[in-house]
Amino acid sequence: MEVINSVSTLKAKVSAFRKDNKQIGLVPTMGALHNGHASLVSRSVKENDVTIVSVFVNPTQFNDKNDLEKYPRTLEADCALLEGIGATLVFAPTVEEIYPEPDTRSFSYAPTDSVMEGAFRPGHFNGVCQIVSKLFMFVEPDKAYFGEKDFQQIAVIKAMVADYRSQNAEWAKRLTICPCPIVRENDGLALSSRNTLLTAAERAIAPNIYKALAESVTFSKSHSVEETKAMAVNAINSVNGLEVQYYEIVNADTLQSVTSWDDAEHIQGCITVFCGATPIRLIDNINYK
Ligand code: AMP
Repeated sequence: MEVINSVSTLKAKVSAFRKDNKQIGLVPTMGALHNGHASLVSRSVKENDVTIVSVFVNPTQFNDKNDLEKYPRTLEADCALLEGIGATLVFAPTVEEIYPEPDTRSFSYAPTDSVMEGAFRPGHFNGVCQIVSKLFMFVEPDKAYFGEKDFQQIAVIKAMVADYRSQNAEWAKRLTICPCPIVRENDGLALSSRNTLLTAAERAIAPNIYKALAESVTFSKSHSVEETKAMAVNAINSVNGLEVQYYEIVNADTLQSVTSWDDAEHIQGCITVFCGATPIRLIDNINYK
């Protein structure tokens, strides 16, 4: 497995793979890798000849400077994990390599990118689209893998790819976005790089988020959307140290809020919770139907 830092080397490697008719899978990450990331990489290794994993803490998607500064960085351990899974190439560039000048491109896919995380983290999805579109243009992958942990992110990226496709971008026509299920700890907490920032006491209460979501699915069979939403929010807020920022029950395809279980074919609940005094912001989601 090779670790490269420069865009020109990445492009040269990709050209060589293409010449050999290799099918390329891309897994974009911000590093501090865990088994959630590993599941994406394993799937890519299975489904492609070549798997490229990017490890880059993208500054343009952080709306909070403190969050960017404290984001864990563990490149050496990440590379060891990736080598063990069978990744072909790790692309770990510097900020200057990706943004030699400021990226002034603006992406807008409302309402997909304006609700929930889009509303509470202004500019977040614009930054995500900036980095992910650059990676797509550098690598022109056949498949790109994203975790359903970031449920809204997948919808935004799909909208972005559809937009590029409508502008006849060849890379967008080739590309399939592959959503992958959430990997959880045994106690239900969704794996996240940010979990390493939790104190022992915070880590102990964090599983209550998934517990409430899972219980709300059973509850939803005999209650309205509004009652189900209130049940989940109250259960989490009743735990000392947890505070729900938002909980939205939405059409899984359009991300628009639903008011009845009959409003959409697929319905997802998407939550963000502040955990502890710092606080650490944790996201999760669950499928109702
Ligand atoms: P990140 O490094 O947090 O930007 O995540 C990189 C990719 O891994 C994204 O597509 C995430 O959705 C995915 N991911 C992160 N945590 C998990 C998890 N617990 N289960 C599945 N995928 C995940």
